[in-house]
Amino acid sequence: VPEGFQGYPISQFCIPKHYEDDLECVLIPKGFVLDRTERLARDIFQNLDLSKPIAALCVLKGGYQFFNDLIHFLKQLNANTNRSCQLSIDFIRLKSYEDDQSTGTVKVIGGDDLSNLRDKNVLIVEDMIDTGRTMTKLLTVLEQFKPHKVSVASLLVKRTSRSTGYRPDYIGFEVPDQFVIGYALDYNEYFRDLNHICILNDKGKEKYSL
Ligand code: 5GP
Repeated sequence: VPEGFQGYPISQFCIPKHYEDDLECVLIPKGFVLDRTERLARDIFQNLDLSKPIAALCVLKGGYQFFNDLIHFLKQLNANTNRSCQLSIDFIRLKSYEDDQSTGTVKVIGGDDLSNLRDKNVLIVEDMIDTGRTMTKLLTVLEQFKPHKVSVASLLVKRTSRSTGYRPDYIGFEVPDQFVIGYALDYNEYFRDLNHICILNDKGKEKYSL
């Protein structure tokens, strides 16, 4: 998504009535997200090392919608090509944001027993890489569970001067340095029930701030 891109008018999309006044624009419509996710699934599948089972690890809560759609496409590839891989599904919950600001600390606040990941090819599925700190921390946490290999798919990567330089293996879209919501990405737990990836306006920020 290029710098300066104005997005699409809210009035041209189906937006829940309770959010109509809180959004600046639609940045990436859900249909576009799905088309891109289908292609990411193909790239991931082509690069898979089939000698080990795959453990797909969903980073909650923001990653759940992307995870769901990515797994859907991976399952289609698994069922309809002459290669296939055993796929297990795990969840981890992290927290690093309050309002639209990174708190600078990353907490693991729940999820599955990660000893399941031992000797597997782990595919971490995340919603957004901003500074890269959360993912770097998660990769360190996972090391102790001795996975065979770890790769990372992030739906979004922000172009920001705050970046640590970390880049995931698979990227859906690069976006300008703005706070985005929708498609499971939240602002203080609001807007997860919005289909499209949108930009919040000042009114919305104020209304739902802590
Ligand atoms: P990082 O540690 O890379 O700075 O931040 C990563 C996490 O912060 C993401 O997993 C996501 O939960 C949250 N985050 C970063 N930028 C945004 C954003 O624009 N919108 C939302 N909703 N969350 C974000």
